[in-house]
Amino acid sequence: MATRRKFVQTLPAVGTAFAVGGHLFLDDGPARAQATPHLASHFHPKGKAPSKFTLEILTRARGALPFDDAKDFDEQKKGLIAQMQDLKIMADGGHVAWDMERFQFLDKQDDFDSIHPSLLRQSKLNNNYGLYEVIPGIYQVRGFDLSDITFVRWIVFDTLVTNEVARAAWKLFQQHAGQGLPVSAVIYSHTHGDHWGGARGIVDEADVRAGKVPVIAPVDFMEFTVSENVYAGNAMNRRLFFQYGLLLPASPHGYVGQGLGQAVSAGAPGLIAPTRYVEKPIEEFDVDGVKMIFQNTPNTEAPREMNTYIPDVKALWMAENVVASLHNIYTLRGAAVRDPLNWSKYIGETLYRFGLEADVMFASHHWPRWGNSRIQEVLRAQRDLYAHMNNQVLHLANQGVTINEIHNVYEMPKGLQSKWYCRGYHGSPEHNSRGVIQRYLGFWDCNPATLIPLSPRDSAPLYVEMMGGADKIMARAQQLHDEGKYLLAAEIMNKLVQTQPQNQAAKDLLADIFEQIGYQQENPGLRNSFLAGAYELRSGIPQGETASSSSPDVIRAMSTELFLNFLGIRMDSRKAEGMRFTINLITPDNGEKFIVELENATLTNIKGFLAPKPDLTLTINRSDLELAMTGAKTLESQMADGTAKVEGDASILKMLASTMVEFDPRFEIMPGTKAGQVAAAREYPFEAKDVREPIAE
Ligand SMILES: [Zn+2]
Repeated sequence: MATRRKFVQTLPAVGTAFAVGGHLFLDDGPARAQATPHLASHFHPKGKAPSKFTLEILTRARGALPFDDAKDFDEQKKGLIAQMQDLKIMADGGHVAWDMERFQFLDKQDDFDSIHPSLLRQSKLNNNYGLYEVIPGIYQVRGFDLSDITFVRWIVFDTLVTNEVARAAWKLFQQHAGQGLPVSAVIYSHTHGDHWGGARGIVDEADVRAGKVPVIAPVDFMEFTVSENVYAGNAMNRRLFFQYGLLLPASPHGYVGQGLGQAVSAGAPGLIAPTRYVEKPIEEFDVDGVKMIFQNTPNTEAPREMNTYIPDVKALWMAENVVASLHNIYTLRGAAVRDPLNWSKYIGETLYRFGLEADVMFASHHWPRWGNSRIQEVLRAQRDLYAHMNNQVLHLANQGVTINEIHNVYEMPKGLQSKWYCRGYHGSPEHNSRGVIQRYLGFWDCNPATLIPLSPRDSAPLYVEMMGGADKIMARAQQLHDEGKYLLAAEIMNKLVQTQPQNQAAKDLLADIFEQIGYQQENPGLRNSFLAGAYELRSGIPQGETASSSSPDVIRAMSTELFLNFLGIRMDSRKAEGMRFTINLITPDNGEKFIVELENATLTNIKGFLAPKPDLTLTINRSDLELAMTGAKTLESQMADGTAKVEGDASILKMLASTMVEFDPRFEIMPGTKAGQVAAAREYPFEAKDVREPIAE
């Protein structure tokens, strides 16, 4: 997991990607940071301008959207104390951790013909960059990361993604409002990495351990922080290149922000474990002399999340449960589908517990809402947003609308569509509605023809043959493209590209089609996915140095059981045919024991048991095992120096190692995009390639 690999870089370069908590983060390295957008020209030599059909769609949207309602702009700029002067924040590693310069183009024009006007509006709103007063005593630094950092006096609510930007935010706060006093407490609102990754930038872990600075979080925070992204982590990493457009330069024809914020910072992430958990549904206690009421909201925007009410100043912190967007029910990078009805009910509960009297409402992304009527309006609409999506999608599903149709059938009510903060800047009505069906009914539309379908690359050649071959498909697809019928054009061109992955003319035409669909999207995840598909079809998957690693803090926070479970996923079962063994694993310092068994080409473990006649007993303190888990030491060297004790057949560990595969985040998504690949030898990405010591990383 904590490994770095080389791969040669092509344009535009991308830095390192790594998973932290609920998001996967990119080292938004120098090349992307330096990409100065040219307002008129396209960043890619094969890139196309928006077509007249795309222009028409964007013009229609401009006319239909409620641009008269400018409240967001008033709220976004209210309370500005100081703009951050430096447009770049440097990482300790010497690269750029945060770069606002590349988003300055957004403010240079009122409109861009290649950006949906609603998305452009949101990105302009996210171009705020400085210290803001929410009310006297409550401050936010915005625009330093995907998320906000909030100071209630010297209590920090959420700490951004990485240390360097959190430190810079703390410095700006101290210059203008902090009075030189230290952090008195940290509160993590939820388990996603953009809310805790920067803690080491503002608080010394020794002070936390000594009890000087409490770190407060919802119950089970550590378990869910670590577990949410481990098992499918590599696939999530790869998919993030689409959802977050990691290869796209900031440009009117490329990346224009992420809706929740402009981007993810690229400094060093870490994790300081909480020292105080909020366990009951509602808990009230003082933090640094401030009375706070915590409301746990499990299984909403995150598996564990909590709102906080500060009654003395009637200030309501909504964590990430209510932001200035429709949030994800289904996450494009991949995640278990969230529970929209539960989410809606918690917003309703907050409304009736605190929202009827709150004077100000603030959250971990975007900007606050002032005045009780505005707060009630936003809470009610957000409550209804998630409930409507749940109820109306199921209403339609109960009448036979399937997962393959729902996004073309489901519509939000007009009242919600006309509220900017209900529009799809993170979730979209399209992918969320499909997510709701996925949650309740799963992937199958109940048509037997789709029940055990052929793989796309196995069915596509027959289509190509029946359609009369590549030339005919190209001609028809070009015609559909020229008529603005991009989804139909994509449908047939995808068959050809699946059949002929090396046909660059076909890939280029499909890229042109994707690009127009991308320009037309309001939702940044949808836009980025189409533009990323176009990019990879044109240029292939870039090569460069990447790290598919979690930070050492996160690996240390993994339970041994989670780690062993993940080994079972990393094992290529085909290599384990015929192997059979039983290992007892004992970690004396934390009193845990496991049976680890390989049988039927399947690696399993069960906690709390030891086998009577194991083939091998491995005894190692959990604190030493962590060194192997993070790659700081190999298990072999620990066996040699006696830190790890083995009884029985030690060669079993080598046998186990021989079955392990290191996942590579550069697997192909669009056919024929992997560098140096020839059609005949098209590689299955899940083929075992790399054999490593299993517990040594
Ligand atoms: Zn967040």
